[in-house]
Amino acid sequence: MAHVDQQLEIDAPGARELLDRDPNAILVDVRGADEWAGGYIPGATLVPLRELTERIADVVPDKTRPVVLYCAVGARSLRAAHALVELGYERPVSVAGGIVDWLNRGYPSTMERTLEPAQRERYSRHFLIPEVGELGQLKLLDSSILMIGAGGLGSPAALYLAAAGVGRLGIVDDDVVDESNLQRQVLHSTARLGEPKAQSAKRTLEELNPDVDVVTIQERITSENVDAILAEGWDVIVDGADNFPTRYLLNDAAVWHDIPIVHGSIFRFEGQATVFKPHEGPCYRCLFPQPPPPELAPSCAEGGVLGVLPGVIGSLQANEALKLALGIGDSLVGRLMLFDALSASFTEVAIRRDPDCPVCGDNPTITEYIDYVEFCAA
Ligand SMILES: [Zn+2]
Repeated sequence: MAHVDQQLEIDAPGARELLDRDPNAILVDVRGADEWAGGYIPGATLVPLRELTERIADVVPDKTRPVVLYCAVGARSLRAAHALVELGYERPVSVAGGIVDWLNRGYPSTMERTLEPAQRERYSRHFLIPEVGELGQLKLLDSSILMIGAGGLGSPAALYLAAAGVGRLGIVDDDVVDESNLQRQVLHSTARLGEPKAQSAKRTLEELNPDVDVVTIQERITSENVDAILAEGWDVIVDGADNFPTRYLLNDAAVWHDIPIVHGSIFRFEGQATVFKPHEGPCYRCLFPQPPPPELAPSCAEGGVLGVLPGVIGSLQANEALKLALGIGDSLVGRLMLFDALSASFTEVAIRRDPDCPVCGDNPTITEYIDYVEFCAA
């Protein structure tokens, strides 16, 4: 099998040389139509892998012609090459590394946007990962992520998302920088005491990466403004909220707007993270249908926390947000990840969508926003 694969694979320089040298060679893109729409190699014909056996005879009736197949990273096109051998084609080859490697070498494509030389340097470590590459980087630069809170969790999450080149970051925070924040909220500094956190975050993030458009929303999320805030085209929400009213309001809004939430929370030495993706997994209310009554709610405003803990959980949230924006990996949908800083251990709990959930269930009973009273005030 290995030697067959070797014969069926060609690297990008070899493919380019073959296409230049042999006018009979035909270039076939086996990706999906949506991937094709984002850019392709000039001269290619689109035949998605699913339609290959049906359509290849129309595109390449002569089975002796060299057929150069490519996809994103070379897996699907290798399967296509095997399929063409089965169909009696004499010279199919798959481009190893796919269009991702092709673009990384600076070979021609129809992609209208290409990265500036400075961006090529900045994101060069992303280009070395086939799952990201230039196409993934362009995806990140086109993505919009909404951060709820520029505090303990929002700080590391926003720093890593900005550094990674997420094109548009929304920061919702109505608070100002306080001395007691600086033990963990690494977006801010002593010089910024008293400054609105959203503004302080914008300055830090734009200094880190001028590619990022930081949109500040200096408001507290309420039933009045939540629809307007979420309607601004966000792909992912990173929830760093520290209170129940916001968490419930945001959950309900995200289900209705169909936007995944990367959830995180921290207390003392313990943190947790998960992804609430509407209709693919549970939402927050599937786990906790209603907030606790005020007399049982923890006094969250004064909850102590080890300074580094939000760094761990906020970084996990950034990891999930990047994967969702790129469409790669296995997300934390349906999995609650728990971290104990004292024992330095991660554990995982399976969580399921509740068909009786009052918001995302089959017969929802909550269909309007609810402003819960602020528990933490006392
Ligand atoms: Zn639910």
